[in-house]
Parts: sequence; C-alpha cells; structure tokens
Amino acid sequence: MEAKTQVAPAPPRRLLTYGHQSIDEDDIRTVAEILRGDWLTQGPAIELFEAALRQYFGAQHAVVCANGTAALHLVASALDWKPGDVVIVPAITFLASSNCCLYVGAEPVFVDIDPDTLTIDPARVEEKVARLTAQGRRVRAIMGVDLAGHPCDWPALQSIAKRYGATLVDDACHAIGALCHGSKLGSGVHADVTVLSFHPVKHVTTGEGGALLTDDGELAQRLRRLRSHGTVRNPDAPDWEGPWYSDMVDLGYNYRLTDFQCGLGISQLRKVEHFLARRREIANFYDQAFAGSKWFRTPTTMPWARHAYHLYVLRAQFGRGMPDRRAFFAACLSRGIQLQVHYRPVMLNSYYRTRFPYDPAEFTTSLAYYSETLSIPMYPSLERADLEYVVETLEECAAD
Ligand SMILES: *Cc1c(COP(=O)(O)O)cnc(C)c1O
Repeated sequence: MEAKTQVAPAPPRRLLTYGHQSIDEDDIRTVAEILRGDWLTQGPAIELFEAALRQYFGAQHAVVCANGTAALHLVASALDWKPGDVVIVPAITFLASSNCCLYVGAEPVFVDIDPDTLTIDPARVEEKVARLTAQGRRVRAIMGVDLAGHPCDWPALQSIAKRYGATLVDDACHAIGALCHGSKLGSGVHADVTVLSFHPVKHVTTGEGGALLTDDGELAQRLRRLRSHGTVRNPDAPDWEGPWYSDMVDLGYNYRLTDFQCGLGISQLRKVEHFLARRREIANFYDQAFAGSKWFRTPTTMPWARHAYHLYVLRAQFGRGMPDRRAFFAACLSRGIQLQVHYRPVMLNSYYRTRFPYDPAEFTTSLAYYSETLSIPMYPSLERADLEYVVETLEECAAD
C-alpha cells in the first residue's frame, strides 16, 4: 500500500507586530559565558554594562535596574516626591510614567501634547505650572516622554523647570540614540535624570531591564542605594562592626538587574548604531511609500531633532471613507499584521478617571491623536519584502 503523501503546509507568514527584539549569536555567546561563570547577580557585569552606558550616552553616572518601571519608581523615591507634591506628565505616554508618582503618594498632573512632536506641549506646561504654583501647590518635577523616539522640546522645558525650581525627568524609554539640537538624550545636557527601558520592543534589550542616567553624583548614589534595600556598607563608618555589617539608611527595594542580563545589554549596546540606522532606513521607506497616501499621514520630525524611531506612528481618519479602527485592525490582523495604538491617554483609564477627573477641553490634541493613531511594524530585522507587504496591506485594507 502506498503511503499517503504528506504535503507540508506552507509555513505561515511570520506575524508582523509593531516591535520585536534582534538577538544574534554574539548575544547568546555573551550570556552563555556569564551563565558558566561565578556571578549570576551582583557580579562584575553590572559595572561593565553601566560603564558602557556612560560611554554611549556621555553621562557621568549610569545605574541599571530591574526594568523601566522600577527605574521610574527609583527616581520618584530618590527625589523624595511626597503626598501633596505635583509632577507634570504628558497625557500620551505609557502608564508607568505617571504611576511612579502614585507609588510615592505624589500627584501626576497631565498636560496635552504638541500635535507635531507628539510630546508634552511646553506652552501648556508653563500655563499649568504657573496656575498650580499660584494655588500654592509644589510642582516638584516635569517629566517629558520622547514619544515614539522624537525628542521633547527640551530647551523649552528646561527654561520652565529652572524658573519654577522643578526637576526635569526624561522618560527616554522610546528614544535611545535620539538627538535634540545635536546632543544625545541622556547626555545630561537636557534633563536632570534620564530613564531607559530594555524591554524586548525597545532599541536595546536585556529581556526585562532599565537604567538611569544622571550627572548628579549624589542622586546616583541614592538611586544605587534604593536599588538594593537602601543599605550601605561603609568600613570607614564610626559604627562599623565588622565584615557582616550593613546599615539600612533608606527604605529601598530589590530592583537589581542580573549579570547575565547585563551581558546581553553590553552585547546589544555594541550594535545600537546599526539598529538605529536600520530603523531610520525603514522610516525613510515608509515616509516615501505613504507620502501620497489618501488614507495615512506620516510622522513629522522637527528640524532640530534626530528621531530614534522606537515606533513608526501613522495617523488616519478612521471611519471617514475608510473602515473604522476596529474593522481596520481586524482586517490587517487577518493578513498577518498586528497593529497597535500608543497610547490611550493615561487619564482615560478607570483608575485615573475615578481618582483624577479631567476636563476634555484641556486635552483636545491628545484626544484627537488617540482617535487617529496607529503603530505599524518597526524593528531592525524587517526585510524589504515585509515593508512592501505592510504598505500594500494597509492601503488595501483602508480602501476596502
Ligand atoms: C517601556 C516604557 C516604560 C517602562 O518600561 P518597562 O521596562 O517595561 O518597565 C516606561 N515608559 C515608557 C514611555 C515606556 O515605553
């Protein structure tokens, strides 16, 4: 009897998502080497990764930690934000940017974004800070988020922060390698402290991971201490009792990063310029492909900015001559492209809406942006054929 011929099904087209890590054999070798060694955590790879970050960003201090959210929590703790304090945060960001204020009892106050940069609007920040200050509130910090990889207008934010004595925090989780007026974010030129994430969709990954960059030595020391239970071991202290002795001086956490994650980070960081160049190539391709599109508007880059393209964000008038967003996303998914939205304005979330009622009139740009935005595949390993497929599929699904 003849065996039934097995016809192998055609391999499914790889699902194209908005972001994906790029791991190569060097990364794997570097991690394996550390796994074979003596230190899984609190070993020498931590300082090596921190040194590599200092060098890449041109920052005085780098402190790595468990993830970007932990990094933000460390900032809030180290800067001693307290109940009653206010921190200014953009309406369009990932939840973690504002949640860190709530972890320490401070109040995040949201401000609308600029329609071109999609980052916090300095004119609105100024208005809000002036009003809150006049009401006797203490505005401790202004947090900028370089959305999608486009830098905030840092000089404008800096001048407001200086006038009101607020700390300037850069949530640069989207923006490794971005330049603002020629200087790298995280270099210490633009903000007092810069927050990074090494989640797999970001430019450089350690699986989970985060880092803080600052030129303020005391702040770096406090961040480092809080990262590991708030303890210090100082043999020169007058009350030093012996080699077992450590003293808890702050209420800290265990937000450490492991050595093998740092190994991955070191190996990934060596390739960051290549990753960034590839992201820019992809952005150029999309810019040209969608330039004459009837449905899609491409992102804007200000002349003073170098975009890092963590995300490639298109805008579309969903439901007006094209399918509504739900139908459009479903059609694209059925053809192997999983689109995403970055982000639903934070204050719309139930938790925030209940605790902090907001006035939609203050957020016209953020709300309009939310109704129009879509993030399409953007990561270094996308090939030319993938990009052509994305453009073709989006145009077809829009015209359907
Ligand atoms: C990814 C991200 C974070 C949090 O980083 P995790 O490492 O996922 O905790 C914070 N802010 C922004 C803007 C992010 O994109």
